[in-house]
Amino acid sequence: MSDYILAFDQGTTSSRAILYDREARPVDSVQKEFKQLFPQPGWVEHDATEIWESQIAVAREVLSKNHLKASDIAGIGIANQRETTVIWNRQTGNPIHNAIVWQDRRTSAYCKQLVLEGKTEMVREKTGLVIDAYFSGTKLKWLFENVSGAREMAEKGELAFGTIDSWLIWNLTSGRLHITDVSNASRTMLYNIHTLSWDADLLDLFDIPESILPKVVASSDMHGLADQSVLGHPIVISGIAGDQQAALFGQMCVEEGMAKCTYGTGCFLMLNTGKQPVSSKNKLLTTIGWKIGDNITYALEGSVFIGGAVIQWLRDGLQFFQFAEESEALAGSVADNGGVYFVPALTGLGAPHWDQDARGTILGITRGTNRAHITRAALESIGFQVNDVLTAMAKDMSHEIRQLRVDGGAVANDLLVQFQADISGIEVIRPVNLETTALGAAYLAGLGTGLWNMEELQSKWEVENTFNPGMEETQRSTLKSTWSRAVERAKAWDIS
Ligand code: ADP
Repeated sequence: MSDYILAFDQGTTSSRAILYDREARPVDSVQKEFKQLFPQPGWVEHDATEIWESQIAVAREVLSKNHLKASDIAGIGIANQRETTVIWNRQTGNPIHNAIVWQDRRTSAYCKQLVLEGKTEMVREKTGLVIDAYFSGTKLKWLFENVSGAREMAEKGELAFGTIDSWLIWNLTSGRLHITDVSNASRTMLYNIHTLSWDADLLDLFDIPESILPKVVASSDMHGLADQSVLGHPIVISGIAGDQQAALFGQMCVEEGMAKCTYGTGCFLMLNTGKQPVSSKNKLLTTIGWKIGDNITYALEGSVFIGGAVIQWLRDGLQFFQFAEESEALAGSVADNGGVYFVPALTGLGAPHWDQDARGTILGITRGTNRAHITRAALESIGFQVNDVLTAMAKDMSHEIRQLRVDGGAVANDLLVQFQADISGIEVIRPVNLETTALGAAYLAGLGTGLWNMEELQSKWEVENTFNPGMEETQRSTLKSTWSRAVERAKAWDIS
């Protein structure tokens, strides 16, 4: 019997394959890093062929390590780095250029020009996004303008565009399927999240030939079979989602009002807003969570640039400790932050402040301040920043968010997670399985093949610990208002 699900977690720095058993428990995983290419300052590329080869290599390895055959796998689920843009030749299957990665800023001047031309509202209304080089649309335009012969070939129908999900599926199916799911499509800045179709006005604006676009499909469905030649037996591809959306699903935030935050290098929040796309008045992105059957689930998204990375900076930049986990005991050695506030705007501020000229600031230092206070302030800064996004989400929804489900490397830190509960005044839940991106891909795939239904998935998802708010309201509001004053001081610093 085909009892296992194989999840692909295709991230920005590595490809992973994770095997899940019938109970949706992780059995084993294999990971392989691939090259990051920086051809110019601000440019980031990947070799798309290397992405595919690393992804299929780890899939083969995890099967052979566990003495499994492809016929033991009920379905493949894919979670991928979002927005990263590839164009390839339909005939040869070769990319016409390196993939342009989501972090790449080469089109930011063009994006600024679009803003000056007054396109912000039109783009936001159709796509739920702010105009930014981050999304695929302007990267695609750049490729057409800079790869010679690309436009002529596209006009003859010889080229295909895709985000990494499309690219992997094209290769898995030896070029039979050219698809992407709604969550990935919603990050291209070309897809209308209301009409659920590629948007003619946006294709026009960026001068993108329609012939290159993939067909947009649901996130969980029997999409088609991976070729026998690839893994030795045909396997159905049944789950697809962008990484953050996969994590929202992997946290089983499947009801309206449920939210998750991933605390890694940055912090990535997503809130399920149900059947309705909520247009943000507080600088958040509106996006598609997933499509299951005929039902679309929308989400609000907000990202904080520096989360766990502030602890890395204390470790590597200031040599406060050797390992990130030591931050917990050090911060816990003092009763409170001693009046110290640390705004870690090391690369500007993301949602909901959006100030690229803000810079890191440590305020309230006195002669009594020591490493422990600064470390505590750094951990608290992660909680304060996440709280600012949660507050923006609550305003957009016009109601409080009552629970937050957390994952990512930094949530090993109990002091941080407890502070999040305290400062936000909400219940914070840490699940047993913190690999929620891969888990979400597996859940979507198992659901798509009928291995599991939604009720089963909800019962399989397990809580490891619940953190309840314990702080007095007066203390909470003093801390929050002092933090806000600190943020104002950090803003608009780099005016060079
Ligand atoms: P990413 O996927 O972005 O690489 P991870 O989810 O692996 O990130 O988390 C790593 C981040 O979490 C690092 O920035 C690290 O400093 C931080 N981190 C790891 N362990 C702890 C800890 N115990 N306390 C605070 N921060 C931590």
